[in-house]
Amino acid sequence: MCSAVPLSRSAPVVCSASAVREFGRRYVAEYLARHRETDYPDDLVARMRALGVFGATVPVGFGGSGLPSGEVLEIIYELARAWQPLAGMAGTHLKLCRDVERHGTAVQKQTLLPAMASGEMICARGYTEQGRTDPERLAATITLKEAHGILNGRKNWVTNALHADRILVVARRDEIAQCVIVDPARPGVEVGADLPRPGMLGVSLAEVRLSGYEFDPELELLGGPECDVTTSLRGHDVTRYLTRAIGSADAVLAWLCAFVESTLEQRAPEVGSVMAARVGQIAIQVAAMRAVWRDAISTAPGVTADEAKVFCTTVLHGVMSEAIGVCGGTGYASEDATLTRHYRDAVALQVFGAPNDALLTQIGERTLAVERQAAGQCLDGYLP
Ligand SMILES: Cc1cc2nc3c(=O)[nH]c(=O)nc-3n(C[C@H](O)[C@H](O)[C@H](O)COP(=O)(O)OP(=O)(O)OC[C@H]3O[C@@H](n4cnc5c(N)ncnc54)[C@H](O)[C@@H]3O)c2cc1C
Repeated sequence: MCSAVPLSRSAPVVCSASAVREFGRRYVAEYLARHRETDYPDDLVARMRALGVFGATVPVGFGGSGLPSGEVLEIIYELARAWQPLAGMAGTHLKLCRDVERHGTAVQKQTLLPAMASGEMICARGYTEQGRTDPERLAATITLKEAHGILNGRKNWVTNALHADRILVVARRDEIAQCVIVDPARPGVEVGADLPRPGMLGVSLAEVRLSGYEFDPELELLGGPECDVTTSLRGHDVTRYLTRAIGSADAVLAWLCAFVESTLEQRAPEVGSVMAARVGQIAIQVAAMRAVWRDAISTAPGVTADEAKVFCTTVLHGVMSEAIGVCGGTGYASEDATLTRHYRDAVALQVFGAPNDALLTQIGERTLAVERQAAGQCLDGYLP
C-alpha cells in the first residue's frame, strides 16, 4: 500500500544563503521577465533542487545541509525577496522536513528525508479548513480498522497541491490530531483546480478532497499509529512569514530607489526633493521592520515572533502602497511588475501562517494577563 520512496542518488549539496541570493538576482528576475506569472516555474524549481534548498534543514546524515535556523531564515528571505511563491513552497516543504525529523518513525526518516532533502519528493501541507485553524476543531477524520487507515476530509487551501509528490494531511482521530502522508496519485484523493487569486501565483493553490483514502497506519501515519501532533500544531512558529515580509520590503525599497534615481533628471528639482522625502519615510519604516525582525529572531528577543509578524506585515502593507504612489503610473502599471507583484503577493502574509487578527487576540490576552498579574503584585505590596 505504501509506496517505498527510493533514496536519493544525487550527491548532497550544501545550501547557502549567498547562492540563493545569486539565484534570486540572476535567474528569478530574468525568469519573471520571460514567463507568465501563472505558469509553474519548473526551471526555477530545478535550480532550487540543484542548490540544495529543499534539504536546507535536513540533517547531513539524511542528505541535507543541516543548517541552523538563522541561515534557513536567510534563505527564506532571499526567496521571498526574489518571488514570494518560491518562499511559500520551500518554506512549507522545509517545515514538513522538520516535522518528519521530529515526529517520524525511524523507517519514515530513512525513506522520506533523503528524497525530501534532494527535492525528488516535494511535499505540501493540508492543515487548515475554512474557519477551522485549531487542531481540535478539524472536521477531517482518520479511522483505523485493524491494519487499515481511512482518511476523509477537505482541505481548502493547499500550496503546491497540483505539483506536490506527497501531501501531509492533518486530521482528527477521536481526541488526537494526526498527520497522514498522502500520495496524491492514489485513489481517494482529488486535487481541485488552481484557485483564482490576486497574488501568490506560479506555485499552485488548490483544494484537496479526501474520500475513503486508504493508508497503512504503521508506514503512513507520521510517527506511527499513536503519534499525536496536537502540541506541535499549537506551537506554530510564524518566524518564516515575518522573514518573508522583510524580503518584500527590501525588494520594494530597492526598486523604488532605482526608479527615483533613474527619473530624477526629467523632474523639476522641487519634485525630486519631495520624492526624496517620501523615500526617506519609507526607508525609516523598512529599517524599523528590519530591527524588529532581527530582534525577534535573536537569542534573547525583546519582541515575540507573533508580535513582530503582525507589526512587519502591517507596516509592509503601508510601505507597498506608498511606494506605488511615489512611482506614479510606473508604480501601478509597467513591464517590470516587481512593485505590484510584491503588493499582490505580500497581502497574503496578513492571512496565512496565522491571521493577524487571531495573533492580535492572543497578544492582547497575554498582555492583559501580564498587566493583571503586575497590578496584583502592586496591590499586594500596599495591602496590610
Ligand atoms: C495564499 C495562501 C496559501 C495557503 N497555503 C496553505 C497551505 O499550504 N496549507 C494549509 O493548510 N493552509 C494554507 N492556507 C490557509 C491559511 O493558513 C488560512 O487561510 C489561514 O490560516 C486563515 O484561516 P481561514 O482562511 O479559515 O480564516 P478564518 O479563520 O475564517 O479567519 C477569518 C478572519 O476571522 C478572524 N479571526 C479568525 N480567528 C480569529 C481569532 N482567534 N481571533 C480574532 N479574529 C480571528 C480574522 O480577522 C481572520 O482574518 C493558505 C492560504 C492562502 C491565502
